[in-house]
Amino acid sequence: MIAGNWKMYKTQADTRAFFAAFLPLVSDALHCDIVVAPPFTSIPAAVEAVKGSNVAISGQNLFWQKEGAFTGEVSAGMLAEAGCQFVIIGHSERRQYFGETDGSVAQKTRAALADGLVPIVCVGEMLAEREEGRTQEVLSQQFIGGPGALTPEEFSRILLAYEPVWAIGTGRTATPEIASAAHGFLRRCASDQFSDELAAGIRILYGGSVKPDNIQGLMAQQELDGALVGGASLDTKSFAAIVNCN
Ligand code: PEP
Repeated sequence: MIAGNWKMYKTQADTRAFFAAFLPLVSDALHCDIVVAPPFTSIPAAVEAVKGSNVAISGQNLFWQKEGAFTGEVSAGMLAEAGCQFVIIGHSERRQYFGETDGSVAQKTRAALADGLVPIVCVGEMLAEREEGRTQEVLSQQFIGGPGALTPEEFSRILLAYEPVWAIGTGRTATPEIASAAHGFLRRCASDQFSDELAAGIRILYGGSVKPDNIQGLMAQQELDGALVGGASLDTKSFAAIVNCN
């Protein structure tokens, strides 16, 4: 899977223009699932634009309640009704700036699954944590408190994204070896918590400054099942080049 996270970029008009240019560039890409996560207000325009194509639309966040007095929040059912098939949960920017915790990640993931969305659950260590040699400790903690708190059946329906925080938006990509080691570690966490079978089956995306010139090396790693792309997904040509690297 190649998934694009647009963060807080692109109006509805930008979204329509993006897909008009992007869809013809990826129409032959049958080797991977292609997903784009626009901001909430651009989701209807994106869903309309990708109708009949090989691209699916994702939310970037949700709240776990079905409805209620939760100003500013959007539910899983609302995303599904708007035409989303996926939702990103626990992105490091949500954790850093909006107080998301491993517990809220688990609640949001369950809510997404209950409404038929496929959650892309993000985990990843900060630079200081890596430099202190605590990467595995942090990943293990995020795994156990978040996706590890699901039932095996729920876990079988999610994707994971390994996104080292020091690589997001910095231009500093994890080497294929570093990414592969972290993915292997997450698979071991899944195996310990659930089973070898579920661990082997889960798709784990890598995210952190993925660009057309580094995608090939990353995807050559057997442990990497795809990429979650931020900045480079905003540009039709770079995102298409990433999708079409095969
Ligand atoms: C992201 O936002 O998930 C991301 C990986 O961003 P970037 O590709 O810009 O580092």
